Amino acid sequence: MLITLQDVSKCYSGVPVLEKINLSLQPSKIICLLGPSGAGKSTLLNILSQTEAADSGSVITSPKLKLSYVFQEDCLLPWSTVSENIGFVRDNEPAAARAEISSFLDEVGLSGYKDHYPHQLSGGMRQRCSIARAFYHGGNALLMDEPFHSLDYHLRFDLVHKLIVLWERRQCAIVFVTHDIDEALLLGDEILILSRHPGRIVKRIEINTPQRSRSLKDQELMLTRTDILDQLLDVQ
Ligand code: ADP
Ligand code: MG
Repeated sequence: MLITLQDVSKCYSGVPVLEKINLSLQPSKIICLLGPSGAGKSTLLNILSQTEAADSGSVITSPKLKLSYVFQEDCLLPWSTVSENIGFVRDNEPAAARAEISSFLDEVGLSGYKDHYPHQLSGGMRQRCSIARAFYHGGNALLMDEPFHSLDYHLRFDLVHKLIVLWERRQCAIVFVTHDIDEALLLGDEILILSRHPGRIVKRIEINTPQRSRSLKDQELMLTRTDILDQLLDVQ
């Protein structure tokens, strides 16, 4: 396991935000955390990255753990070009860095934009740049906090698809936070549904079909979707 949480709870000013969370992040697997706004999803990512301490329970990390992060906002440096924004996360020999960055830019469909500045890119392109940066960083676990939330339907699915291809090639583990059922259905090996006030895992769903062969039109996935929807409406 890369990270294991055992009975992790967290309060802010005496108000419980997370209660007895148990999860295990295995190498190369994708966990989707799905829940309404305010359920404690970002807090849980912060606990996983140990930027926030749990009040009780244990956070056990493998000595091999190397984390990368993709935030809700793209968090690009406005004064740096696309390739500088990607390159600064690693100390790499310049020629090797150029070649590697360019191959990541190809994979996210940004070749030809390496010398552009963030303000010259659309929201979807900026988010593609931050995903390329996270993969270039080369962690074996990637935490993603609603990375596609501000994008329209088509862009979201394009990026979900690109993410699957990048993940298949690098095989890192991913914890993907979303409030979008379809993103969770397409990406998750395991989907954890969080309730609100306090955030508790109210359901765990495993999907065994490989991500690459999933379609939202599949009967089985549609049934799982209905199941999740019922659960989410129940916890609102
Ligand atoms: P989500 O990401 O699911 O929308 P968050 O983890 O951001 O939820 O927040 C869960 C709850 O914890 C919210 O009610 C939020 O206001 C509260 N909260 C989050 N971070 C802090 C903090 N640093 N101090 C106090 N309250 C916080
Ligand atoms: Mg959040």
